[in-house]
Amino acid sequence: MNYISIAIDGPSGAGKSTISKEVAKKMGYLYVDTGAIYRTVGVFVRTHGVDPRDAENVAALLPQIKIEMRHVDGMQRMYLNGTDVTETIREHEISRYASDVSAIPAVRAFLLEMQRKFAQTNHVIMDGRDIGTVVLPNATVKIFLTATAEDRAQRRYLELCAKGSDITYEQVLEDMKRRDENDSARAIAPLKAADDAVLLDTTGFELEQSISAITELIEKRVSDETV
Ligand code: C5P
Repeated sequence: MNYISIAIDGPSGAGKSTISKEVAKKMGYLYVDTGAIYRTVGVFVRTHGVDPRDAENVAALLPQIKIEMRHVDGMQRMYLNGTDVTETIREHEISRYASDVSAIPAVRAFLLEMQRKFAQTNHVIMDGRDIGTVVLPNATVKIFLTATAEDRAQRRYLELCAKGSDITYEQVLEDMKRRDENDSARAIAPLKAADDAVLLDTTGFELEQSISAITELIEKRVSDETV
């Protein structure tokens, strides 16, 4: 059977995960949040007190890491060596750990097959930074979502506040810019749109607008593909 795969890439805070989750629900596809996998590695590295930029020591930890992604009631849950870390990976500090470890080639190689396997056995909508360029270069539809750093920081700030964080908007914006820089400048699988991706700038869009724009685009592409 030929499975449909939808690749959604873009910088942090562009709304990838919220939009992908909704579209997956509408279309009955499996949603795979690949950032969660990098975050899980970040948690392990932090637990072991290793500097996430220290490529050699991070690589040495990899054989001890077993990551599982389970889908419970449509929700993706992450397990690190059997422990549920779904909430821990969302801690603000883990964003930096994930971004730092993701620049290490050994980490990317370690996680590549795991990501590809989902698309070999399911219709998927997968979000990340290099899905259309590296993980699923033959994806049925590729979308690159973006928005200004200020717009993305504002969304992330509101999300964190809703979770009770006392972080300031300025701090979120600064971290966002640092991560953008890290993700775009790294030598391996940098954040960039695939040549055949559709670019969508969601600056100023209400969530519902983005969801309908993307659902429409995907439905059209998928039906063209299957006629
Ligand atoms: O998407 P999210 O913000 O949860 O991702 C956390 C970090 O993981 C990103 O800043 C990025 O550095 C890294 N990442 C990546 N490749 C992916 C998904 C995430 O490098 N496919």
